[in-house]
This record gives sequence, structure tokens and C-alpha cells, in this order.
Amino acid sequence: MKCEDCLRCLCDYIDEQLDALTESCFLQHLEECPTCTALLHTVQKTIILSRSIWCRETPLPRKVIRKAYYQLRIHYRRR
Ligand SMILES: [Zn+2]
Repeated sequence: MKCEDCLRCLCDYIDEQLDALTESCFLQHLEECPTCTALLHTVQKTIILSRSIWCRETPLPRKVIRKAYYQLRIHYRRR
């Protein structure tokens, strides 16, 4: 899996939507790539922060995850 593919899987991974094969490729890539690992942690942190603001019963809108993802992607491309 390349970084680009990894980024594409990020949202689905957080949403637990990846199939087993894709997830294992994704996790394998994370082990080899500190950049993507850092990105995942940043996204997760953003989500945790967002969730603490909202009611716990309310699921985090996918829109918010997408937004965080695109911001990271822009950041990532600048490097
Ligand atoms: Zn990567």
C-alpha cells in the first residue's frame, strides 16, 4: 500500500468500514510509515476532541471526519 492509498483508507478505518484485507494492508503500511501513523493519530485526536464537545450519544458526523482528512491531505501534499 502506498501513502496515497493509506490516506484514502484513513476515514474508513476510523469508521471501521475497511474489509479485513484492506485493514491488514493499511496497518502494515502504518508500521512502515511514520508519516501516515502521525496523520492517523492527528485525525483520531481531532475526532476525540470533537466528540468531547458534543453529546456522547451523537455519532460524529462523517462530514467532520472528511474535513479533518482533507486538511491533513493538503498538509501532507505540501511536504
Ligand atoms: Zn505512508
